[in-house]
Amino acid sequence: MFSPPLYKQRHDFVIQFVKDHKPKKVVDLGCGDLKLLRKLRFHREIQLLAGVDTNSSVITKKKHSLSPLPTEYLQPPVHPLTVELYHGSVTKREPRIKGYDLATCIELVEHLHPAEVEKFAEVLFGYMAPSAAVISTPNADYNPLLPGCSGFRHLDHKFEWTQAEFCSWALEICRSYGYRVEFTGVGRHPSDEESVGFCSQIGVFYKDTSRCSMLLRNEAYEDVPVYSLLYKVEYPSLCDNNILHRTLMNEVLYAVECVRRQWLEALQKEIGDVQSSDDSASRVSEDDGQEPYWLGGDLCVPLARVFSFPKVRELSGNMQRLRGILLDDSRVRLIGDVMVSPASEEELTDTCEGGACRDYGPAEHVSL
Ligand code: SAM
Repeated sequence: MFSPPLYKQRHDFVIQFVKDHKPKKVVDLGCGDLKLLRKLRFHREIQLLAGVDTNSSVITKKKHSLSPLPTEYLQPPVHPLTVELYHGSVTKREPRIKGYDLATCIELVEHLHPAEVEKFAEVLFGYMAPSAAVISTPNADYNPLLPGCSGFRHLDHKFEWTQAEFCSWALEICRSYGYRVEFTGVGRHPSDEESVGFCSQIGVFYKDTSRCSMLLRNEAYEDVPVYSLLYKVEYPSLCDNNILHRTLMNEVLYAVECVRRQWLEALQKEIGDVQSSDDSASRVSEDDGQEPYWLGGDLCVPLARVFSFPKVRELSGNMQRLRGILLDDSRVRLIGDVMVSPASEEELTDTCEGGACRDYGPAEHVSL
């Protein structure tokens, strides 16, 4: 009935919320087949992403879809990300998912028996106490507009709330646990009467920190883990020093290779020009201290030239740090402030054609 499909609209609503509020720790309660988590992991402001469901077989089957992609190892982002998937019920207190910035409960609450709903509210708002929670649930007022829908929308639904019922439940939560709520939803056609609301109704709850701490002051919970951790993965990021070092070295080697290629092309062109015009003076140019030069069988690239590559600059921060890292790495040779690498046989032959082979040292060099 809806385009994009309703489940996608619900997930897109969460994604938009994440873009707007930039939470660092997010838990998806009733995460099902991990679809929402798979989308959330690309929002790298999130540093801890957890999923919880009572259906461990779906999590086990799909967990590897949350592994880092090969590109994430090649170009690691700045921020770290840990993904954790738990088998457990939202009616149980689990210390490892306490105090998150955002908890999402997308089409979950209507799968709980009424007594469990009460427990769920106490666990979510009284114990986990996230800064914000997004709860979506079917809107019973919309059911008459759904073709062929008699009774509940799904066999496993224990109830479906009207807008008034959802509103009264949500306002009671706010009173009891110190939150405020905004009502919205997804799935509505332009022809629908406004009073029927959205097909999926959504409550966005925000913690009112001052009221919340007053209400929770006397509560003492034992922090004993009760969920089973089914999967945990740490994504590569530049916060890991080994990864930062490896990425920076790749960029340095790439920069030197670029300089080497440009230099060879320019040198071959100069040799051609010299042979046709015999004007050797054109080979000497102004030096800004970043020009590579040829010394014996080695190509010498000033460190300043390597540092001028944006990615090298961004990853190393400053020249002194770059120098320190290069001195510690056996793959490169640093003499003073110059990176020295031997030329290949082919390069030597190419640039020595026609007897033009000679040293172009820093004092008399070929400009690129
Ligand atoms: N949130 C997902 C989505 O948006 O696609 C899945 C929604 S599915 C309709 C409801 C999910 O809630 C199922 O995966 C079910 O296993 C899970 N669930 C039901 N009772 C639960 C409980 N007490 N604790 C945690 N998850 C529960």
